[in-house]
Amino acid sequence: MSRSGNKFEVIIAGGGIAGAAVALFLSHLNVHVTILESRPYRPAIHDGGIIMLGPNGMNVLQGLGLADKLLQRESGLQVSHITINDGDGQLIGRVPQGSVERHGFLSTVILRWDIHEVLLDEVERKGLDMRWNSRVQSVDESDSGVLVHWSEAAEMKEKKADLLIGADGIWSMTRPSMYKCMGLEAPKPRYSGLVGIGCILSIDAIPGLSKFLTLEDPVVMVHSRLGFVGMMRYDKDGKKIGWWTTHEASERSREEWNIPKEQLFRELHERYSKSAFPIPQLVQTSEALDERPLIVWPVYEVEKLGKWHSKRIVLIGDAAHAMPPHSGQGASQALEDAAYLAYLIRQHLDQRSDSVQGSAGTELHSLLDTFQKERQPRVDEMIDEANRRGDRKRETSQIGMFIRKWILKILILFMSQKWMDRWFAYKVPGIDEWAGLRSAATQE
Ligand SMILES: Cc1cc2nc3c(=O)[nH]c(=O)nc-3n(C[C@H](O)[C@H](O)[C@H](O)COP(=O)(O)OP(=O)(O)OC[C@H]3O[C@@H](n4cnc5c(N)ncnc54)[C@H](O)[C@@H]3O)c2cc1C
Repeated sequence: MSRSGNKFEVIIAGGGIAGAAVALFLSHLNVHVTILESRPYRPAIHDGGIIMLGPNGMNVLQGLGLADKLLQRESGLQVSHITINDGDGQLIGRVPQGSVERHGFLSTVILRWDIHEVLLDEVERKGLDMRWNSRVQSVDESDSGVLVHWSEAAEMKEKKADLLIGADGIWSMTRPSMYKCMGLEAPKPRYSGLVGIGCILSIDAIPGLSKFLTLEDPVVMVHSRLGFVGMMRYDKDGKKIGWWTTHEASERSREEWNIPKEQLFRELHERYSKSAFPIPQLVQTSEALDERPLIVWPVYEVEKLGKWHSKRIVLIGDAAHAMPPHSGQGASQALEDAAYLAYLIRQHLDQRSDSVQGSAGTELHSLLDTFQKERQPRVDEMIDEANRRGDRKRETSQIGMFIRKWILKILILFMSQKWMDRWFAYKVPGIDEWAGLRSAATQE
C-alpha cells in the first residue's frame, strides 16, 4: 500500500474515544486517516460501564459539533455535584461537578458506550476509513515515515504513513513498539491492588432507593473502612442506576478474575453487610438477578512515561497515560489529547500548505515535543489526584477511617466551583475554531 495523493498520511491505532475523536478532527484537514481497530465490530450496549464526562470533555465534543448529540441520547444526566457519605450514611460533603456559567456545561453521567457511539456515528457519517478487526502488530520507523504492520481478519497488511497515532488504550501495542524503535523497553501495565465490581439495576427494584438517590442528588459515593461504593442514576427517565464498588483484592490471572457468582457475592456480603442503606440492598438485589449481573474490572496502571513520542509515532489517551478510574477524567483527557494534537497538526499543515507530503522529520519531532510538554503536566496532576483518591478506597482501621473522613471533610470545604476551574474550565487551544472549518466543509 502507498500514501494517498498529496495528503498528510496518518494511521491511528485504536478506534476508541481518543482514536475516533482525533480522526474526526483530522478529517477537517488535508489529511488522509486510516483507523485500525482490533475489535471485530462496533461494541454492544453497556460496553465500558457508566462514567462521568467533565465539562472540559464536553467542550471538546462541542468542538466536534457533537455535544448536543450526546445530550440528546436516552442515557445521560447532567449533574452539578457528587454527594460523599461515610459507611454509616453520614454526609461527608458535596463536591461540585461544573457549572454552565463557569464551564459551559455540567458534568454528564452517561454510559461510556454512548460517548463512543456518538463519535463512531460521525466517523461513519463522514465515511472515514475505519477498519474493524484490524490489530496493529508491529511498527518500523525511519526518518521519512513509519511502516505499520497489522492483521486484518486473517490477513497481514502494511502501510507507510507520515505519522502513527497510538490511541490503543492501556494495553497499547503501539507503546512497546514505539519504545522498541527508540531502543528502549516500555513500562508494562501493573495491577494496582484495587478491583472494581459493578452492576446496573432498575431503581424500583429497591424500595426507598428513588428517595435516597433523587434526580437532584443523583450521584452518591460512600467511603467505608473496607472499601468504596458509588451509585448513580444515569438515564433521563430516572429508571436505572449503576452501582459499583472499588476495594482491595489480591492479583489474579485473567481466568481467575472470572470469579464464580456465589464466591463474588459471598465476598461482597462479608465486606458490606454492615454498611448503611442502600449498600446491602444493592448487593442482595444484584445477587437475585438471574444472569451473571456483575462486571469485574481489576484496575491496572502504567508508570508515568518519559516518552510520549518518537520521531513519527505519538501516544494519546490511555496509551500515553493510563488514567486510574478514580479521577473521572480518563475520557475527558483522552478527548483533550485528541483535540490538542489535531490543533498542532493543523498549525503544522497551515505553515506547509505548499507541500505536505512527507513532512520533514525535524518539524514533526518538534510538534510532538510540544504536544508532550503541554499535555503531560496537566495529565500528571490528574493522575496524582486519582492515585490519592484510589488510596482512600483501600482498607483501613477504625482510627484510620476517622482520620480519612476528617481529611476528606476539610478537602471538600476547599472544593468550590472556582477550585474546580483548573480541571473543568480548561479549553484546548483553538477548540472554537473547528466550528468554522466544519461549516466551510459543509458549504463545499
Ligand atoms: C471502570 C472504569 C471507570 C471509568 N470511569 C471514568 C469516568 O468516570 N470518567 C472518565 O472520564 N473516564 C473514566 N474511565 C476511563 C476512560 O474510560 C478511559 O480513560 C478512556 O476510555 C480512554 O480512551 P482511549 O481511547 O485512550 O482508550 P480506549 O477507550 O481503551 O480505546 C482503545 C481502543 O484501542 C483498541 N485497540 C487495543 N489494542 C489495539 C491494537 N493493537 N490495534 C488496534 N486497536 C487496538 C481497543 O479495542 C479500543 O477500542 C473509566 C475507566 C474504567 C475502566
